[in-house]
Amino acid sequence: MIWNEAKECMSRDEMTNLQGARLSKLVDRVYHNVEYYRKKMQAEGLEPGDIKGIEDLDKLPFTTKDDLRDTYPFGMFAVDNSQITRIHASSGTTGKATVVGYTRKDIDVWSECVARCITMAGLGKEDTIQVAYGYGLFTGGLGAHYGAEEMGATVVPMSTGNTKKLVTMMVDFGVTGIMCTPSYLLHIAETIEEMGVRDQIKLKASINGAEPWTDGMRAQIEHQLGIHAHDIYGLSEIMGPGVATDCQFHRGLHIHEDHFLPEIVDQKTLKPLRDGMEGELVISTLTKEGLPLIRYRTKDLTSINHEVCECGRTTARIARFTGRTDDMLIIRGVNVFPSQIESALLEMGGTTPHYLLIVDRINNLDTLEVQVEVEERFFSDEIRELENLTGKIAHVIQNAIGLAVKVKLVEPKSIERSMGKTKHVIDNRKLI
Ligand SMILES: [Zn+2]
Repeated sequence: MIWNEAKECMSRDEMTNLQGARLSKLVDRVYHNVEYYRKKMQAEGLEPGDIKGIEDLDKLPFTTKDDLRDTYPFGMFAVDNSQITRIHASSGTTGKATVVGYTRKDIDVWSECVARCITMAGLGKEDTIQVAYGYGLFTGGLGAHYGAEEMGATVVPMSTGNTKKLVTMMVDFGVTGIMCTPSYLLHIAETIEEMGVRDQIKLKASINGAEPWTDGMRAQIEHQLGIHAHDIYGLSEIMGPGVATDCQFHRGLHIHEDHFLPEIVDQKTLKPLRDGMEGELVISTLTKEGLPLIRYRTKDLTSINHEVCECGRTTARIARFTGRTDDMLIIRGVNVFPSQIESALLEMGGTTPHYLLIVDRINNLDTLEVQVEVEERFFSDEIRELENLTGKIAHVIQNAIGLAVKVKLVEPKSIERSMGKTKHVIDNRKLI
């Protein structure tokens, strides 16, 4: 089944025409409603009329997370605040959140995009779907929830936390679909084994995203639960989850091109790359009203394929992501920048600027350990002093990044020094 055949199966010419028309309207809208874009375009001698179709796309300036930070909180909104019906936020590089605003129509488009993704995973109206992403400022929970409702499925808004209760309800309610991070799903799978209810679950498919995962992990999930696991891509600046998902053939993620115009650019030259070549994914939001973005640099590395898929959809597919161009970590759906931790440590004092972040996957849950060098005197003091400091640092970091961490204090000069770019992160999850 295809959710919106008219949009997901149009010919390449039809899609290009639609995208071109929407792009020129978008440019007109941001030029007149967002001072930031108007100034940027004027600086390059561009007028809205110069953008007639997607062939003019590369005349337009890029947008980055820094632009959103510089205009915090609402500087890039293109509508009056009275038209904004919802706000979400994710952490930024310097502690200030990246704020996104949605009009009612934006929420409708988002819901439809997620409904399309759920259809790609083979789920429909008759299914019961548990949403086990966090609900709140993070786009995962509500984004998945509204999409599943739009689809017409029965939604169970679990959020995260009580895994045994989730499994009990999965059995009792006859849950057939689940949306959560892939690592959490593996944790759920283990809980199912522990509770001895593997033969009582009716799960058919999962839709997983908000953190990096591999085909190996997909195979593990599919094997352990006897289901089909699908990858969902999104980022809050662009919309949230639901920008793209893989269909039953799992050969790349179909991007909802009528709403999101994708480009792959060379990381260094920023010149557009052709199909199959790996580079940074750049997206223009063709229909967004609240926070429309032009050529937003996602920092995610992938390639694109415009060939028609076996499933019948003609929308372009992006390959599974191979990494990022910056140092952002995604841990349990939370965006973490090492620089956030660094500035929190520097603000509190007593520590040196030397620290190391160790990301691991223990019992299928992502964990973050922060090793911090502290001044010599703390090691000569009583052990209680050291414990107090550990607790204080853990608290300060949790406040800065919104994620509980394990803190380990280490003696001065014990963290390896580098001659080049200091390595602040060891991500053991990549070994899976
Ligand atoms: Zn397909």
